[in-house]
Amino acid sequence: MSDFVADLIKKVKPSATIAVSMKAAELKRAGKDVIGLGAGEPDFDTPEHIKAAAIKAIEAGQTKYTAVDGTPELKQAIIGKLSRENKVEYKANEILVSCGAKHSIFNLLSAVLNVGDEVIIPTPYWVSYPDMTLLAGGESVIVETTAAADFKLTAEQLSAAITPKTKLVMLNSPSNPTGRAYSKAELQALGDVLVANPHVMVATDDIYEHIYWGDEPLVNLVALCPELRSRCVIINGVSKAYAMTGWRIGYAAGPADIITAMRKVQSQSTSNPCSISQAAATAAYDGPQDCLDVMKAAFKERHDYLIEALNGLPGISCQPGNGAFYAFPDVSEAVTKIEGVNDDVELATWLLEEAGVAVVPGTPFGAPGYVRLSFATSIDVLKQAINKMELALTQAIR
Ligand code: PMP
Ligand code: GLU
Repeated sequence: MSDFVADLIKKVKPSATIAVSMKAAELKRAGKDVIGLGAGEPDFDTPEHIKAAAIKAIEAGQTKYTAVDGTPELKQAIIGKLSRENKVEYKANEILVSCGAKHSIFNLLSAVLNVGDEVIIPTPYWVSYPDMTLLAGGESVIVETTAAADFKLTAEQLSAAITPKTKLVMLNSPSNPTGRAYSKAELQALGDVLVANPHVMVATDDIYEHIYWGDEPLVNLVALCPELRSRCVIINGVSKAYAMTGWRIGYAAGPADIITAMRKVQSQSTSNPCSISQAAATAAYDGPQDCLDVMKAAFKERHDYLIEALNGLPGISCQPGNGAFYAFPDVSEAVTKIEGVNDDVELATWLLEEAGVAVVPGTPFGAPGYVRLSFATSIDVLKQAINKMELALTQAIR
């Protein structure tokens, strides 16, 4: 058989989060009793007023190409959102709307990385950052954080990881998979290091900002450190906050030169994001915002239930988070106690086979010894999952 696949692509791993969700869906279709806690997407339906805006757009014939960087209406809505909620001011030429925040990050890395440029990625990281870096020709510099430091990058660690080849630092708060968010003081400390290193850019992936229940308000990196504005790209989108994962709308806000380069990448790849989804996203940002609190309250209730329940399971311990919709328990004790299970990847397979619960292993997040459970599902389903896991674990760990 001929091998036409590029060497670079052979090195890229498929997304582990998507793989687990697909596997759970496939088993369910085959009639297996499987509970999927792999998917990182809200179980809620997209709010009615947002869906209505999309239907109206179709009826009004908004079914053509739009400007590559997004419709003027959506860009204006994003500018309004950034100003209102994040206290940062951007102009239209500093915004690029893309097919999801994932696409925004891909455009960013493609637009700024030269071959061999280093990207600092703290663990545990969202699975896609290192592979997207690879695709863009860069080198991931993985910095391991510790559970004791709440899985957060410290200023000392950041400072030590920066080299002359560092191009960009990836921050994600609240974090997928840990559910922890940087405090203002922690972010300021990282900001100070970045201010002192003018050759380094920073991307702040704020996709979970609305799913947050920490004690102090979340603060945006650019609002906190305005000196970084000329080399910071804010990544965000409607997927998580407004339960709009399938609509595929995300955006980047940053300095005009970087946004122009990203727009060029997009103009030669996907052109514009879906015109109808853009109308829906405009309604999300400009319309009533009460849906955000309703969903956040549900996520918090599920978080509280799940953390307590996980800590009651043998071999598992889990610290609480203050955002996103993931629990990230330490499963190292279970790994050592279950026969035939040698690591978190095998434990995830074991949980799927023995308990019928799909979770994502920690290894693809750069955190062996952990697994990720999504609580973007009802309490009833979470309870069923816990019951199934308890049965399997208590039988295996005696
Ligand atoms: N960043 C993080 C940390 C995520 O978990 C996700 C979820 N897919 C994304 C970005 C991308 O979201 P989307 O492409 O759906 O906007
Ligand atoms: N971000 C979500 C997750 O981590 C969606 C899947 C993906 O794009 O990786 O599960």
